[in-house]
Amino acid sequence: MKELKEAADNKRQWNFNFIKYTEFIVAHPNYKGLFYERGNDGKIKWVVTGKSDKGQERRKWWDEQCKKYGIKIEAGAYAKIAAKIHPTKKHTCQICGKELSVEYIYPNKRTVTAFLKEFGVRIVPFSKDIFQIMNELVKSENDIEKVKRIFRIRTSEKITMQNLNEYLQKYFVDCYAKGLLSPGVMSNSPDRFDGFHSDGACCRHESDKGRHKSNLQRYGQDRRVYENWADGDWKMADRLMSLFRKQNLSADHIGPISLAFCHRPKFHPLTKAENSAKNNRMSLSDVKLLLTDEKTEQVVSWHSKFIWDKLKNKVSNVIEAVKLSDLMRKNLHHVLIIFSMIEEKGFGEFLEQFLNPEYSFFDYKFEGFDPTTGTYKSVQQIKKTGKNQQNNIKRYYRISFDVLKEYKEKENRKNKIWNHKEVDTALEKMFELLKSRKNEDAKNQLEFVFQKLADLAESNW
Ligand SMILES: [Zn+2]
Repeated sequence: MKELKEAADNKRQWNFNFIKYTEFIVAHPNYKGLFYERGNDGKIKWVVTGKSDKGQERRKWWDEQCKKYGIKIEAGAYAKIAAKIHPTKKHTCQICGKELSVEYIYPNKRTVTAFLKEFGVRIVPFSKDIFQIMNELVKSENDIEKVKRIFRIRTSEKITMQNLNEYLQKYFVDCYAKGLLSPGVMSNSPDRFDGFHSDGACCRHESDKGRHKSNLQRYGQDRRVYENWADGDWKMADRLMSLFRKQNLSADHIGPISLAFCHRPKFHPLTKAENSAKNNRMSLSDVKLLLTDEKTEQVVSWHSKFIWDKLKNKVSNVIEAVKLSDLMRKNLHHVLIIFSMIEEKGFGEFLEQFLNPEYSFFDYKFEGFDPTTGTYKSVQQIKKTGKNQQNNIKRYYRISFDVLKEYKEKENRKNKIWNHKEVDTALEKMFELLKSRKNEDAKNQLEFVFQKLADLAESNW
């Protein structure tokens, strides 16, 4: 698997600017001692996999840098250190060769909309950074009021034409204000030499559909539930999450949905900056908390219980917590590939039993919500049976299955597959059972397949 990934990267067409960039970066003293080698073609092997020996060597180097700069090694630390030591703060895109900043200085979609509303100006995403935009647009005190509305600044501090940029730098750019500003490239340590994805934000949207915001957010619903076929009372969780959002806090899942954990109505309050720095990986304390919570409730979605049960007690430090995160992410990818195969072969109905539309029929009112701890005093459940609920359910089914269809079209489905004979054989048997309409047996066989995938993950531990 890892050789495939590394080879695939080197086979990709590298933009000439990117080649120059890689040479500049590996030669820069800031990266002294960070491992790399060259391929037969002389090009730098930019990518290694995190868990390989080379990856571990790179990780060790990044850990040392964190120590050197006083950054605590926890989830999100690598994103911070990669930006910190980047010599120019400008990353070059592997695909188009464009330079974008590694800092949080570009207006995101929501902010672009706010600019259009306040200034009547349409900003092309990633064409200009926030300071260029300020210099072009802000000409008067009245314009400063507009900026304050865009960034929802409610400070009593006096903001003037002179200190505006400084203020934005301090309270937004330097705090990873992802809710309003985005970086020109996402972090990816220690796989990539410089700690950033090879594609810049200019090209990333094409290769990473999952990041797209949808109109689901207008309904306060978390799309990741649908995308990852997650268990959990999603309605109650969505409602609780919206209370955090009202306080401009981000509700952090203790076990991320993208790693196959349930969408549970229990969150850590985090500032948006902290949350974006976490990068969907668990810390050691997250794993411990999940093990405690599990004594009283379901924490992981049924399809990924097998890998979780197999590996959860092996985690004793932050590196292993990240390792488990990576293996669970990959496992969920495999689960979704299998679901997409089942859908493709015409057994979509069989999959419906794994969705949880019933939660749609309730709404929740929380009393005594405390945003500093994320806890509440009591919750009232209200039964709902209107047309809205029916529409919600339809949407829930539609999006869940659309995601599987997208998976089918992903040309990398074949490349990112498990490559394991036993899994293939077990899958074939499941399809036989589905064909002969033995649904209960097919379900048991599917669990057996997931068990095999968990064994495979364990062999990579
Ligand atoms: Zn690009």
